[in-house]
Amino acid sequence: MPKPDLIQTLATEIKTCHKCELWKQRKNAVPGEGNLDAAAILVGEAPGYWEDMKGQPFVGSAGKILNEILLKVEISRSDVYITNVVKCRPPRNRDPRTSEIETCTPYLDRQIKIIKPKFIVTLGRHAALYVLARSGFKAENLTKIHGRIYETTLLGSEVSIIPLYHPAAALYNPKYRDELNKDFQLLKLRFGRLE
Ligand code: SF4
Repeated sequence: MPKPDLIQTLATEIKTCHKCELWKQRKNAVPGEGNLDAAAILVGEAPGYWEDMKGQPFVGSAGKILNEILLKVEISRSDVYITNVVKCRPPRNRDPRTSEIETCTPYLDRQIKIIKPKFIVTLGRHAALYVLARSGFKAENLTKIHGRIYETTLLGSEVSIIPLYHPAAALYNPKYRDELNKDFQLLKLRFGRLE
């Protein structure tokens, strides 16, 4: 089946999913969006208020910061695929629970298998913990590992995993915004080399 059909089928499953309790309070599940032939998938944590309202990833205040940073390093949102570890909004934006992550991440795994990215850029602690552990790496504190490149094989494809801070962290702390800018510059260097 062609990629667009596979992603569409998956999105339909996600939008009607009742596998964990998070479906009960969602307005919209947020499967993800972007370029299906992207070299990079950006994986955030979970939808927030605006993402839940619109059914799209990173369209609230954290999305605004992400857009600004991508613009700065001349990466177009339409060049990447953007999704989250958990596809429905946790109530009051609480952290997703371990059981919710375990239940939802087979969807992320399927997205990775369909898109076959060269890079997986994790945004925030939960995304880094899941993707690194899935690849057999010992998860460490994000302050120690952000911006590092983990070369590995994940779900049958060679991939570089790059853990970064979540753009929401940069909302109130300029230090995180600087780090995110620097780390995305690194990604851009890699992106440029492979394009
Ligand atoms: S968070 Fe994931 S597993 Fe839970 S209901 Fe939504 S799509 Fe299903």
